[in-house]
Amino acid sequence: MPLEIELVPALSDNYVYLIREPVSGTVAVVDPAEAGPVDAALMAKGWKPSLIINTHHHGDHIDGNAELIAKYGCKLVGPTSEKARIPGMDQTVSEGDEITIGNEKGMVFETPGHTKGHISVHFPGGNALFAGDTLFVLGCGRMFEGTPEEFWTSLQKLRALPDDTMIYCGHEYTQSNVKFALSVDPNNAELKAQAAEIDRKRAQGLPTVPARLGDDRKANPFLRADDPGLAARVGQPDNSTAAFAEIRKRKDNF
Ligand code: ZN
Ligand code: FE
Repeated sequence: MPLEIELVPALSDNYVYLIREPVSGTVAVVDPAEAGPVDAALMAKGWKPSLIINTHHHGDHIDGNAELIAKYGCKLVGPTSEKARIPGMDQTVSEGDEITIGNEKGMVFETPGHTKGHISVHFPGGNALFAGDTLFVLGCGRMFEGTPEEFWTSLQKLRALPDDTMIYCGHEYTQSNVKFALSVDPNNAELKAQAAEIDRKRAQGLPTVPARLGDDRKANPFLRADDPGLAARVGQPDNSTAAFAEIRKRKDNF
């Protein structure tokens, strides 16, 4: 049976995720930005979490931890290399480790770039990738702590997952991402088609998350830094790392 995944909007533009493995009824919470709306969603479902997963140490991904742990007694798992920056971790994970939710296992990828220790977790059984602030729909996170080499390597790892993988990211940034993407990749027909669909969803107040990785790969400029046309357009035809760095820099100044 597939995982049940609930999207919980939090703060101004964060998404927190509730994951339920239906055979065992085990529930996990990904990146609780704040406890209030997460607890309300849990109570509405009648779900009790036994695990919190944090992708990275930023407050808008961990500030709900303590209150949920106090109420539910759930365990906390997060990146080994951010143990000192995330209070109360019970389990730490690194590249290749597994996170178990009932009968399903998630594979841990180290995806540095936004932060040094950022992890992303892929549940093959649910076709679900929890990408935190590494990969956004049609974008990527700000490069606060990592290098272009690290960030580009991280995105290539995630890009290699199956087409049908759904991207569950940390923020609803898609509409601003799309404006930027069109500025650097204006002739991309797939991007233009996705832009129209995104505008339609947002006009109806609908989330643009999750999105299918196979579609994002064709339109997200940060997953296309090695596309010859795009790399040439940003003046880095022979070096995908430099092309990624240039696209990231232009987004920072957009
Ligand atoms: Zn962050
Ligand atoms: Fe964030």
